[in-house]
Amino acid sequence: MDHPFTYEIIYSTRRTTALQVTPDGRVIVRAPKRCPRSFIEAFVRQKEDWVLRQLARFEKQRKEHPAPELPPLSDKDRARYISIARDIFTRKTAYYARIMGVSYGRIAIREQKTRWGSCSSKGNLNFNWRLILAPEEVLDYVVVHELAHRREMNHSKAFYAIVESVLPDYRQARRWLREHGDSLWTSV
Ligand SMILES: [Zn+2]
Repeated sequence: MDHPFTYEIIYSTRRTTALQVTPDGRVIVRAPKRCPRSFIEAFVRQKEDWVLRQLARFEKQRKEHPAPELPPLSDKDRARYISIARDIFTRKTAYYARIMGVSYGRIAIREQKTRWGSCSSKGNLNFNWRLILAPEEVLDYVVVHELAHRREMNHSKAFYAIVESVLPDYRQARRWLREHGDSLWTSV
């Protein structure tokens, strides 16, 4: 079945299926892990009119308020941001690791389009410097998320229970990253 738009499917441990249209015009279906493809197809078909309306609305917005064309970031400015990020993440990691009673290895600051942070099996941590452009709660969440992997190397209920015990409002920060994370690539 052809749709007048393409969509991505993100499978997760959620129980229900949901549809999202992002301001940059992506259509995302979030679905439970073993959700059959035919169900997703039917779900999208049912919501086709809504999706088209959202796409038209965002397209109009983009035309009326085009994103400013940013000059490429200079190496000097990037180095400065990375150095600020290293200070911030070093401090926050030490702070939360003490609260959570976990150890960690080295901290590296990266710029990877696809991830905000990571934690290796040896406890080495990577953080994306662009997070320093996000609200503070978001940085805290990424730090606590990666440190929680020192106890649970997965995204299980037990894992999120650890995150929640440190940051009861972590869902808001996580949502912010999902909804606005892309803006961190266009703000400097
Ligand atoms: Zn994780």
